[in-house]
Amino acid sequence: MTTYDTQDDQGLAPIGTVMRALPALSSAPAAPPDAPSAPAPARPRCARCRDAGWLVPDVKYGNPAFAKPVPCAWRAAQRAASQRQALLELSHLAAHRTQTFDTFVCSAATAAVWATVQRYTERFAGWLVLLGGYGCGKTHLAAAAAWAALDQGMTVLFMVVPDLLDHLRAAYAPTSAVAYDAHFERVRSVPLLVLDDLGTESATPWAREKLYQIINYRYNEQLPTIITSNRPVEAIDPRMVSRMTALLFEDQVVLIDAPDYRQRAVRTGWDAWRPGNEHPPRSEDGQG
Ligand SMILES: [Zn+2]
Repeated sequence: MTTYDTQDDQGLAPIGTVMRALPALSSAPAAPPDAPSAPAPARPRCARCRDAGWLVPDVKYGNPAFAKPVPCAWRAAQRAASQRQALLELSHLAAHRTQTFDTFVCSAATAAVWATVQRYTERFAGWLVLLGGYGCGKTHLAAAAAWAALDQGMTVLFMVVPDLLDHLRAAYAPTSAVAYDAHFERVRSVPLLVLDDLGTESATPWAREKLYQIINYRYNEQLPTIITSNRPVEAIDPRMVSRMTALLFEDQVVLIDAPDYRQRAVRTGWDAWRPGNEHPPRSEDGQG
């Protein structure tokens, strides 16, 4: 068994040390002695792998682990952290930094809603529709679910609907340098999309059509989607309503009513909330 002087107590040695100890396998000519030498490398941040990211188990030929580099845990953690940072930058979640499951103030009445949203984050199967008036916590819970997705390594996009339509409109303008198609494609196909505040957008035919295209695409592809709204159902495009309610998580729309949060199973779609019947909570001022 070869013993490397930098080998650690788990029998792992930096891959660079191992490679240097091997006889030259390549037929490439060695650098001439007077070739300019590379600058001295900075002190490695990881003493185990010397920043190579891989370690070679020091085992005998015939051992299944022989010559199979294993990732260095430090390096893997570094990579995960930078991957998370990249996901965060794409997500538009920075503005909702404090809105996590931990910071949501649950009352006895809201605990069920909180638990439903948390169950949703176990698999992100289906659509989560959260309805409630201003300040009821629906945006907070939608953001909490998005953070959970991000922590699971999912690519997430959190979009406030009026802002989304502004983005698309700006990108669509003939003078725009932004590639409209790329932006639109990214929104409609992102692994988890949060559409916050649906129904408050200015409902030009163009905007309505773009929004419908996004929702319809995600419905067809069965991509997990979270929608929040404070609007009465009648104010939302019926085509959207039919898509929004077709893939509901646990067959229910989640109603959050401030100050009393409640939740009702709606297995027959939104018809159950027609005036005179059950209807989703509305805020007096149309905000939230
Ligand atoms: Zn390392």
